[in-house]
Amino acid sequence: MGKRVGVLALQGDFLEHRKTLERLGHEVVEVRLPGDLEGLDGLVIPGGESTTIGKLMVEYGLIEPLRARIAGGLPTFGTCAGAIVLAKDIGRDQPLIGAMDLVVERNAFGRQLQSFEADVPVPSVGEPPMRAIFIRAPAISSVGPGVEVLARLEDGTIVAARQGSLLATAFHPELTEDGRLHAYWLSLTP
Ligand code: GLN
Repeated sequence: MGKRVGVLALQGDFLEHRKTLERLGHEVVEVRLPGDLEGLDGLVIPGGESTTIGKLMVEYGLIEPLRARIAGGLPTFGTCAGAIVLAKDIGRDQPLIGAMDLVVERNAFGRQLQSFEADVPVPSVGEPPMRAIFIRAPAISSVGPGVEVLARLEDGTIVAARQGSLLATAFHPELTEDGRLHAYWLSLTP
């Protein structure tokens, strides 16, 4: 059944998430104000620039309502900058929601590898591997005890993780036609 899914629409590639979710048959609400969080079954935090998203969350008075709703069980999916914003620890000071027990390193792939693509096996969504697009991507350096690693690169770098119904990916599933990870995440929602 179609769900009502919010997409944080302050900055970044929220339109691509919107398209993916609509293709899967869900209703999408663009979230810019605290009132937009009413009645959602889930929330996506898109890729973009985590410092900008953080700053705007503070300016729009969204950071506390977001922390409260997510701590209260709102299923949330962060991609790339969204994963950074969801993490507890990124080793530097910028506004975060901090809901997931992850240590994340921003821009982890350095200058040579600012952007790249890889076929990444994601057992939770089955075969074939996902075509994963990385753009100035973070890496998940470590995960806490309640967190399941969903995907790694060949060298072992963690690029997707789940904590209950919270999902974080270092890559951008919204930039391909492959909606399996969005569908998997929504299958975790009540
Ligand atoms: N490098 C960005 C950041 O630190 C993330 C890039 C992205 O979302 N594609 O926020």
